Amino acid sequence: MSLETFKIRWPRNVPGRFYVDATCLDCDLCRALAPGVFVRDEEHGNSYVGRQPETPEEVSGCLEAVAGCPQEEVHDDGLQFDWQAIPPVVPWFQPPSKNA
Ligand code: SF4
Repeated sequence: MSLETFKIRWPRNVPGRFYVDATCLDCDLCRALAPGVFVRDEEHGNSYVGRQPETPEEVSGCLEAVAGCPQEEVHDDGLQFDWQAIPPVVPWFQPPSKNA
């Protein structure tokens, strides 16, 4: 993942392979495909990864979400990303306003 890509990663995503970026339309597809992995941010009206998938079925649901998200906002960074090198909260990130 490049630094530019990391800048659009929604900060509530837990570290790990899958994440949602900051322009989610809140269509519910990913939450339907992998319930419990993708959760709704009630404050901002978007999805994020609340926990990484734990079963092959959940991984499959996540991969379907990557392929099916209408905004191409669900991302798979594979298993090689060094999360220890990046802070869990990106200090410069400002969530977009839904009212703008
Ligand atoms: S499928 Fe994409 S647009 Fe729909 S809720 Fe999930 S991240 Fe948002």
